[in-house]
Amino acid sequence: MSVFKTEAIALGRTDYSDSSQIITFYTRDHGKIHTIAKGFKRASGRHSPKAVDLLTYYQILFIKKEHTQLHTLTEAILQDNYPLLRNNLDKYYKASYIAELVNEFTEENDPCEQLFDVFLNTLAGISTDTDATIRLLVFEIKLLHILGYLPEWRHCVNCKKSIRLMSRVQFNAKEGGVLCTSCQVKYRNGILVPSGAVLIAERLTGLTMQKLERVKIQLPICIEIEKMLRYYITSILNKKLNAWKYVKF
Ligand SMILES: [Zn+2]
Repeated sequence: MSVFKTEAIALGRTDYSDSSQIITFYTRDHGKIHTIAKGFKRASGRHSPKAVDLLTYYQILFIKKEHTQLHTLTEAILQDNYPLLRNNLDKYYKASYIAELVNEFTEENDPCEQLFDVFLNTLAGISTDTDATIRLLVFEIKLLHILGYLPEWRHCVNCKKSIRLMSRVQFNAKEGGVLCTSCQVKYRNGILVPSGAVLIAERLTGLTMQKLERVKIQLPICIEIEKMLRYYITSILNKKLNAWKYVKF
């Protein structure tokens, strides 16, 4: 039994008893963890908030138990609760969506500092940006990239031809990328996407978070990219995500 301290973002929360909750965090040093927070609902004081809020950044202390995936939360010190998210439904849904993505794509006790940093940065960005649409697209693409799911966007996955001069290509999740005009007839189940949108998605992969504020993409292109990403994510996870009902472009 050892006590650990780490940075953490609250992803999910369920009631366990009258005074306890099970809280899922994405942490910098331990990846996703589930903790039981006993007495947190009634406790008070600076270092023991009444309840841990979702989509909030904490410094936490927890006791790691052997042979179980449920650890004990002992302290959660608030770092940032992004107040601008709390009074804007559109921002709140977008932030909930990125938390759902992290929850679905990660395993317990499998840390990834790069993903933690992008998650933290995106949460702050959604909270302060006037239009967080591009930030959301970049998060989806960076998550896929960091976790090794990035598809091939530049060249046909069959004949390796560049898609640069084509107007529409097929994006095929099963084949892991785009198919050129001549190859797509041989494959089923893909979706047609304007190649311009595919190439913009590809360019967003390498974009640094600092340069993001200067990026402008027309809304119809954002919609095409998001359509492609949702189709691809559905194919990887084998399900649709809850937040898609609420996150509109
Ligand atoms: Zn081809």
